[in-house]
Amino acid sequence: MSVETFVTDKAGLQKFYEAIITRHETYAPVEKFGKFDFKRVALLSECDPESPISKTQSIKPLFFPRSAKIMKYVATSAGTEVSEVDDDPLAGKRVILGAKHCDARALQVLDKVYNWDYIDTDYQKRRENTVIVSKRCDKADTHCFCTSLDYDLENLDAMDVLIVNGPDGKIYIKSKTPKGDELLRTDVTRHVSRITEEVSDPDLKKQYEAFAGSFRLKMNYKEVNEKLSKIFDTPQFENVSGNCVSCNTCAFVCPTCHCFKISDEKVKDTGLRYKSYDSCNNGYFTLMAGGHNPRPVKYRRWRQRAMHKFVYYKERFGENLCVGCGKCTISCPVNISIFEVVNQVAGGE
Ligand code: SF4
Ligand code: SF4
Repeated sequence: MSVETFVTDKAGLQKFYEAIITRHETYAPVEKFGKFDFKRVALLSECDPESPISKTQSIKPLFFPRSAKIMKYVATSAGTEVSEVDDDPLAGKRVILGAKHCDARALQVLDKVYNWDYIDTDYQKRRENTVIVSKRCDKADTHCFCTSLDYDLENLDAMDVLIVNGPDGKIYIKSKTPKGDELLRTDVTRHVSRITEEVSDPDLKKQYEAFAGSFRLKMNYKEVNEKLSKIFDTPQFENVSGNCVSCNTCAFVCPTCHCFKISDEKVKDTGLRYKSYDSCNNGYFTLMAGGHNPRPVKYRRWRQRAMHKFVYYKERFGENLCVGCGKCTISCPVNISIFEVVNQVAGGE
């Protein structure tokens, strides 16, 4: 049972963050050209653990890198020699500050597939060695719909340490997992005050209710699951995917998409093998060696995307493959929204 709870104020929270950064390998949102991406930081001044949702990339690349070297080789007429790549830079013990609720939740969804028929030991090691310390949002952004999906966001244990803004400038810091307990039992908390859970819970609840009340988008995911599962052949998929330019951006920014491709880059005799993001919206994604492509047109690819997220993953793992973060909508160059797509198709409008 996780019990560590502290209260502080804005200045105390900054000191808490500073103590973590000083004592631990820490990743946090770093701004570049008006956008935030998670980078390793040495000082609090380099990052913003409270960066805006709409401008912050997900933490997925810290567990599933965008493009990672997986093998080196030398191929000559005498044969091929394969060697391991350098040590995994993401495998060490580390803390992540500033992840959003939806991002942390996305890792719980991804855990299911990474521990399924093939156990991805790189992913597992990165997960085991990471402590996520993050603040719950106070307000939904325009495209957020995380409270509509299949989990109890209020009592979520996806973050190891949850930070919540309370009334009168109070800020609560609460462990949610044994890893969170362990961190809060070290001297990173020397500038904040320990309290009991009972004192803080009503304030945490009030903050959650205000946050949950701020959502513009609401979805009945059970209805969407059920209706989509029965309308594979609907022409609605053609209507909703018409503007898609198959750029794959939606999958690359999505915290739950996990398709990848393997490619070789060879210069003269020396080659590197990469594992990089791919997407079911890519026209070549299902192209087979013999030339057949079962999804040659984009409506079929969009259907696969929607069905995988709201039907197939749910059937196999009991969870939607979407956490309602809205990142795909924010980044889509032609303003396609998965929220609108699945509601429109399921509603038959
Ligand atoms: S980001 Fe938009 S245009 Fe690009 S593949 Fe996704 S839906 Fe299509
Ligand atoms: S599909 Fe869109 S809204 Fe759902 S998790 Fe992925 S990026 Fe977020």
